[in-house]
Amino acid sequence: MKKILIETYGCQMNKADSELVAGVMLPEGYTNTENHEEADVILLNTCAVREGAEDRILGILAHYRKYKEKKPNLVLGVIGCMAQNLKEELIHKRPWVDLVMGPDSYRDLPKAIQQLQSADHEPLVIVRRDRFENYEEIFPVRGEGFNAWVSIMRGCDNFCTFCIVPFTRGRERSRKSSNILREVRLAVEQGYQEITLLGQNVNSWKDEESGERFADLIRAVGQIEGVKRVRFTSPHPKDFPDELLYAMRENPNVLVPHIHLPLQAGNTEVLQRMNRGYSKEEYLKLVDHIREILPDVAFSTDIIVGFSGESYDQFQDTLDVVRRVRFSGAFMFKYSRRPYTKAEHMPDDVSEEEKQRRLEELIELQRSIEAEIVQEWIGKETEVMLEGVSPKREEEWIGRIPQNRPCIVPAACGQVGDLVKVRIVDARAMTLVGKPL
Ligand code: SF4
Repeated sequence: MKKILIETYGCQMNKADSELVAGVMLPEGYTNTENHEEADVILLNTCAVREGAEDRILGILAHYRKYKEKKPNLVLGVIGCMAQNLKEELIHKRPWVDLVMGPDSYRDLPKAIQQLQSADHEPLVIVRRDRFENYEEIFPVRGEGFNAWVSIMRGCDNFCTFCIVPFTRGRERSRKSSNILREVRLAVEQGYQEITLLGQNVNSWKDEESGERFADLIRAVGQIEGVKRVRFTSPHPKDFPDELLYAMRENPNVLVPHIHLPLQAGNTEVLQRMNRGYSKEEYLKLVDHIREILPDVAFSTDIIVGFSGESYDQFQDTLDVVRRVRFSGAFMFKYSRRPYTKAEHMPDDVSEEEKQRRLEELIELQRSIEAEIVQEWIGKETEVMLEGVSPKREEEWIGRIPQNRPCIVPAACGQVGDLVKVRIVDARAMTLVGKPL
């Protein structure tokens, strides 16, 4: 059997796509390996959202040249958003790369690899745009674990001015409800207890045949026997349906009260320039509204600092929203101008030093809020889904509470995927410590 090594960089969509690629390749007679030396095919599934992510992949490819030199038959491929973005340019930059393939072309992988292995072949660049894929009937091959990422849609129509996703992943399209539910049932049969529904904008998921919307889908997933928890990422703040909140309120043990609600910036003018479709006030109003319906909800978010034209005063609005919402977690980044986006033609006029300074200020604020949130948990009762041995202490296990915060428990209290009722007795940095009840 030939061996394939798939390395994943970037977001959860890429993680799900790597499992999909395994779903394409393993039935063709390949097995997964983690050993670069023994791999016949190495695929890097890449991200193009930030310039830094692309630079990192170019660095890794420089390093991986040695595998090609040792094993000339090795097929070294770059797939995913960076491949779609750079196309032939990637071969010019790293001529020892054999294959460049975009996210809508994975069905062509076995044929392309066979071609590359069969003769002295020129590198292949396959970045089709004549077909936007949903991979409806291809089921991913997942690794070990308790959580299954289930992609419910692909692409995005929102065209936030800073974002490259609509250009690399194409127009938004939803998978059929029947296929999604079949995939969830299969994941449960394979032992996964937590399901995370994935899409660039899950609120706009729609089954074109039945007319079902995301709230219907999440209800249906939550009712599948064996599904202990359902998470989703990401909804867009501009069109958050009440129906989804009601579904979560009806079944809070399974449809857990954690919402990743990307903010990106707190100032209305900056949000307008980003084409986000909501103002500072509308975002805060939505958060209040969600909290009225789901009082236990925890929010996490994504924030960009130093977007085109962002003044220091406008950045203060971001800090203000962070203080008012009190996010339980945040992915925080400096703005990075990307080719092909609308913001490519806007000035990147906040200096690198100033972006760094703002990022540090934001991180400090967010950390202090998270530290307070962690302390507020002490004394409360909750439920932890066990994930495995704690990376820091072998005698303890780690899991997550419904609000997605990590929690340490004594190892003796269960197995991976078990739900354990605990009282929070302590905290170590941002991690809770639970005592089983
Ligand atoms: S919603 Fe905006 S940020 Fe998110 S993927 Fe779509 S264009 Fe990008």
